[in-house]
Amino acid sequence: MNIVFSEQAEELAAKARQIADEYVRPQAAKYDKAQEYNHDAARAVAEAGLFRTFVPKEYGGHGAGVLALARVTEELAKADSGFGVAFAVNALGSFPMILGGTEEQKKEWLPQVASGERMVAFCLSEKYAGSDAQGLSVTAVADGDDYIINGEKKWTTNGGVADIYSVFCVTDPTSKSRRISAFIVEKGTPGFEIKKIEDKMGIRCVPVVETHFHNVRVPKRNLIGERAGLGFKHAMSTLDYARPGVAAQAVGAAQGALDLAIVYANRRKQFGAPISSHQMVQKMLADMAMQTEASRWLVYRAAAGIDAAPGDASNSKLAAMAKCMATDTAMHVATDAVQIFGGYGFMEDYPIAKFFRDAKILQIYEGTNQVQRMVISRHLIRAAANLDHLDPYIPVETQLTYAEPGQAVVNHNT
Ligand SMILES: Cc1cc2nc3c(=O)[nH]c(=O)nc-3n(C[C@H](O)[C@H](O)[C@H](O)COP(=O)(O)OP(=O)(O)OC[C@H]3O[C@@H](n4cnc5c(N)ncnc54)[C@H](O)[C@@H]3O)c2cc1C
Repeated sequence: MNIVFSEQAEELAAKARQIADEYVRPQAAKYDKAQEYNHDAARAVAEAGLFRTFVPKEYGGHGAGVLALARVTEELAKADSGFGVAFAVNALGSFPMILGGTEEQKKEWLPQVASGERMVAFCLSEKYAGSDAQGLSVTAVADGDDYIINGEKKWTTNGGVADIYSVFCVTDPTSKSRRISAFIVEKGTPGFEIKKIEDKMGIRCVPVVETHFHNVRVPKRNLIGERAGLGFKHAMSTLDYARPGVAAQAVGAAQGALDLAIVYANRRKQFGAPISSHQMVQKMLADMAMQTEASRWLVYRAAAGIDAAPGDASNSKLAAMAKCMATDTAMHVATDAVQIFGGYGFMEDYPIAKFFRDAKILQIYEGTNQVQRMVISRHLIRAAANLDHLDPYIPVETQLTYAEPGQAVVNHNT
């Protein structure tokens, strides 16, 4: 498979790098400490047209695809992983509409997302429904021309900042396969409240909140798709499209931590020489670089696969592989980067501690890495029929009996 970086994708990535250098990295510590959203950087992202990256051309976007989205996210996350997700969650929240919405819905909402005029959030998780996304309890009940939503969602990234929320609700509690439907809920709808802004270990510049729904009335035209019962399908296809984005966030975070570790290792002297001259530090740097580069290309491969063949069954497996590998890498690289900084790495006076704190969530959200491994192994086991021509056993008559070292091998069976 060819991984083709379009000129447009690279132009968008270059703009993202410029914004990261100018608006994100210099302010990262400040917004992290204050737990505040970087509105200036978000405005710059909107002005540069970066929210258009993932929106199809027909609705005011660039239609640049998942690979371009990954490139942009990577550049932003290299400066601040929290800002990377603050950007990428707009794609996560928009994909249900992009992939499953009606023409009318796409025309109404997506141009506003593309321009950056309105931010988006994704409300799937609940207090008692995380990895088991089928176990939702928030309900939406039809009432005349409307649906009425009741219940609570947990951990909505961009909550409060976002204007549009893709909310997954139970519409048919009796059905196993068509239990869930997704709705668009606008900020300010009566009964829809942002509650409890979480106090987090990392990605502190982006708000993660509880969203409460008390008799929230939304018109039936806000039901995403042509009919009720497609919500779980929309959620799963959304996650397949979005996981290369979170994986790209991880690659950016890993590269950001590695870059700092290299600079520090060259400057810090112990035993009369830069610590970068010590072989054990060199080994750490080499492993960090190898893993980051391998993750990067797996992410590009997964993203390019979705762009080239949107409905292909292998997309889901590759997206899970990319998410799992890149996020495990980010955690590992950030941990070793702190190690290279020694005691200074443990202090908030240096930027590396933040990379470490920010990395952990990558292994948890958009499906934990245990869930990713379940997705990957399920695909492998289902596809086992393709390997039926292989015999996993060596026929008895050709088995060898190995001799002791130095003696000739004797095959007793032939
Ligand atoms: C900062 C943050 C931001 C988030 N943003 C969003 C958002 O914007 N929108 C949204 O909808 N959600 C969001 N989430 C929720 C996130 O996706 C969930 O936290 C995640 O899916 C895990 O669910 P859980 O926390 O309930 O853990 P659980 O599902 O309770 O899992 C706990 C542990 O058990 C393991 N486990 C569970 N089931 C299995 C199994 N079958 N086999 C093996 N291991 C298993 C998990 O891997 C994990 O290690 C966010 C969460 C956080 C913390």
